[in-house]
Amino acid sequence: MNQFRFSRRPDIGDKVRVSFEFFPPKTDEMEARLWDTVTRLEPLKPKFVSVTYGAGGSTRERTARTVKRILNETTLTPAAHMTCVDAARDQVDAVVREFADMGVTRFVALRGDPAAGVGTAYRPHPDGYANGAELVGALKGAGDFDISVSAYPEKHPESPDFATDFDMLKRKADNGATRAITQFFFDNDLYERYVERARRAGIYIPIVPGILPVHNFTQVANFSARCGALVPAWLAERFDGLQNDPQTHALVASAVAAEQVLDLVERGVSDFHFYTMNRADLVFAICHMIGIRSHEAEAAGSAAA
Ligand code: FAD
Repeated sequence: MNQFRFSRRPDIGDKVRVSFEFFPPKTDEMEARLWDTVTRLEPLKPKFVSVTYGAGGSTRERTARTVKRILNETTLTPAAHMTCVDAARDQVDAVVREFADMGVTRFVALRGDPAAGVGTAYRPHPDGYANGAELVGALKGAGDFDISVSAYPEKHPESPDFATDFDMLKRKADNGATRAITQFFFDNDLYERYVERARRAGIYIPIVPGILPVHNFTQVANFSARCGALVPAWLAERFDGLQNDPQTHALVASAVAAEQVLDLVERGVSDFHFYTMNRADLVFAICHMIGIRSHEAEAAGSAAA
């Protein structure tokens, strides 16, 4: 990775597009933080912002409320995440209609995690959609939606092998998915190999890397172990000893994520999806480094020049 090579390419921000992922807030305090984040990131003009959907429909109302507020109070284009968990087809179809009536044109279609928790066996609802591919088919039948789906550069933990994963991704693409967004990863070689193998498997939709800025290394390491993402030794080394030093931790985290994104740009990637964790600081800094600026910042910069 070479930041100096990047610094000679000031035009890069014109070529890179970003999207941001939020989760629906559970408390008034979390709600306030989310809206501070949305307000700070809105001027960066993301392609879309997505709002996650909780297991077992537990946040269905909250997801709908958040999506509605984004539609009503911002210039942003929301994408509603949908899962198949614990819901019959007609229930899922009714939620899709509700979103479409609101003006939602983009969805992120997922099977979802088992209702009993990650690590337990997934049991589809007897009258439900069995997986992401079936949900994509249903969405495509319901309207001309932009549909994102998931992809796993390090294999989905439930999947016996990569071939099974590529088979599912191909079914999602064949059923009408517009793009795949990956689970977060820290090793760009794994992502590049995954995209090459997907192309060889006949999957041609864009595979957008999901980038997770490391707000808290200990939490990210625990979460990575659960979802099968590798935490390379060099990453652990970078954050070693910073548990009680949030300022340095944040500086290191923005450098790590910017390096990762810049390296992917060098490899020809132009679209990035950021898992914001409803926090603006790191994502805003990383976007700034890759040349994605608010018009206000650009205007202030040229006035000062
Ligand atoms: P699918 O695409 O249907 O399947 C994924 C892979 O798992 C397949 O490739 C297949 O090989 C394997 N698989 C599926 N079913 C089985 C089975 N029964 N037996 C063996 N292997 C199987 N979760 C949420 O709850 N809410 C969200 O909003 C949400 N957003 C996400 C956004 C992104 C970009 C990503 C990458 C993940 C998100 N998740 C979310 C997590 C996701 O729901 C879980 O990873 C879930 O376990 C799989 O859902 P999927 O849509 O990827 O499944």
